[in-house]
Amino acid sequence: MKRADKAVRIHQILDKLYPTQPIPLDHSDPFTLLVAVLLSAQTTDVRVNMVTPELFRRAPTPEALAQLPVADILTIIRSLGLAPAKAKNLHKLAHLLLERHGGEVPQSFAELEALPGVGHKTASVVMAQAFGVPAFPVDTHIHRLAGRWGLTRGTTVEHTERDLKAVFPREAWNRLHLQIIFFGREHCPARGHDLEACMICGWAATKRRIAEEKRAAKVTRQKRARSRKPAA
Ligand code: SF4
Repeated sequence: MKRADKAVRIHQILDKLYPTQPIPLDHSDPFTLLVAVLLSAQTTDVRVNMVTPELFRRAPTPEALAQLPVADILTIIRSLGLAPAKAKNLHKLAHLLLERHGGEVPQSFAELEALPGVGHKTASVVMAQAFGVPAFPVDTHIHRLAGRWGLTRGTTVEHTERDLKAVFPREAWNRLHLQIIFFGREHCPARGHDLEACMICGWAATKRRIAEEKRAAKVTRQKRARSRKPAA
């Protein structure tokens, strides 16, 4: 099956499964979304949503966040991965929003990516979800699924992003990004499952890919079994 045909069918399945796409990170405006997305690196959205109520209570605006000492930010977000670096970045980010952008979140990829702790994926999420600009944020989960579904042979998230943008209609990028995340969370365990039984991989993954994953799963099972065996 051609890549374009797969994309059409996958798009139909995801639209049926996820007709609405609520944004998983709690926020009230572009600024709080930017902060939440920055905090979500290397941690789950659920964890981020646990710390942001207090953070946004103390610092609902760039002005208030710039006034909050790094140590206080760290205390609030301590339960998240990479908390010390994130606390410093948030503090700097608040200052830069005030100095360069009049306290507003900029609406361009280049300006967003120039902010501390904001990479292309974070900028893409903000452009898509805060400003409705078509973007296709690709994280490692989407990268892995796109490879399994045969929509890309990319070895980097940048390559995968290009391939996904080429194969899906531009007006659907923003919702597909969320739909693929929802599908991955709901259906795709990290390892140890049957690709042939899956509602997408079952027909979209190549035979070669299915065979490779079966071999890899077998090796993992054997390794685990060996490590459980008591030494003679
Ligand atoms: S087999 Fe299905 S559940 Fe597994 S990775 Fe593929 S899409 Fe996800």
